[in-house]
Amino acid sequence: MSIPKIKYPFLNLKTINEKTLQAAEEAACRVIRSGWYIGGEENEAFETDLAAFTGTRYAVGTSNGLDALRLIFKAYLYLGILNPDDEVIVPSNTYIASVLAVTDAGLKPVFVEPEEGTFNLDSGKIENALTQKTKAILTVHLYGRPCFDQEMKDCAKKHNLLIIEDNAQAIGAVSKTPSDSGSFVTGSLGDAAAFSFYPTKNLGAMGDAGAVTTDDADLAKAIRALANYGTDRRYHNIYQGYNCRLDPIQAAILRAKLPFLADENNHRRALAEIYDIHVDNPFVKRPLRDIPDGSIWHQYVLRTDYREELRQYLTDKQVGTDVLYPTPPHMQPCYSCFKDLDLPIAKKLAQSVVSIPISSCTTEHDARQIARIINDFRP
Ligand SMILES: *Cc1c(COP(=O)(O)O)cnc(C)c1O
Repeated sequence: MSIPKIKYPFLNLKTINEKTLQAAEEAACRVIRSGWYIGGEENEAFETDLAAFTGTRYAVGTSNGLDALRLIFKAYLYLGILNPDDEVIVPSNTYIASVLAVTDAGLKPVFVEPEEGTFNLDSGKIENALTQKTKAILTVHLYGRPCFDQEMKDCAKKHNLLIIEDNAQAIGAVSKTPSDSGSFVTGSLGDAAAFSFYPTKNLGAMGDAGAVTTDDADLAKAIRALANYGTDRRYHNIYQGYNCRLDPIQAAILRAKLPFLADENNHRRALAEIYDIHVDNPFVKRPLRDIPDGSIWHQYVLRTDYREELRQYLTDKQVGTDVLYPTPPHMQPCYSCFKDLDLPIAKKLAQSVVSIPISSCTTEHDARQIARIINDFRP
């Protein structure tokens, strides 16, 4: 399969994986030759490294990011900490997986609108959305930017809400506000966090993979059991569980790639700074960039009222783009039950966002060229 070459590709996984190819090949071969293909030492080693990286006591590998989220909610239900029909605060502009995990567990998503400049849940709007049934906030660190502040913490404490992080897009991001235990890294800010290692994420596997991190020993134990048919010891099932285990080949590859993640994240921060300084066009809005920059820039997302024109123009100039996401969850056909909700910010963002190249496929020189091209755009 050959991918048509363009000058400034949005993303090319082959290029992304070139730097770590040898380490990944060695890791995969080690598993293939070991004769051990489910669970085992490779998983334990990656879980240990991920927990250390995140600063949590536990990490549990899972089959993918959606399953990581689903297992968190299911485990809280089995532990009696959540109950069916409880409400969960969810940002209205998130990826569908965040919402699928909530409804799959028999819980009710309550959509709260984001701030337009950061794309992240507006903590000031949570209080108004609460009812007696609200038991958790699913905070999504969208596009790599931490979504966590004092107001969210205070609100969670006052109303006894769990904070669950959807950290699928933000591994290694650093919050401005620390958690109660004094940690700043996403994945350690709330009660539990879900990671995705989908190949396009900043730390990507070569297939599907995910993980949960937490400091809660009971939760980690329940998730590990649930992911393995609900088994606590061999042929003994305490839950009606699932098969959501992390593949050891992916665990070995991820462990080999983890030491390179900081470079990837820092490169993306450097590109974001270039775009921040150089993109200057009255028809295009830049995302807010904090200094110091704690985001890992999974996406660099512009807003424009002329999206189709801008995308066509950039395609003609050989700049790849993408749209995350063209339709908010509450407007998807599968969620016709939510279609009458009035969430104008999510709707407007879905119509106006466009992502431009920001990964190790893009050099700093490329980013300056891309900014220049964008500045010449006129609708
Ligand atoms: C990628 C992603 C997920 C799902 O992860 P998978 O590994 O693809 O299942 C969940 N939430 C967000 C915000 C994501 O970006």
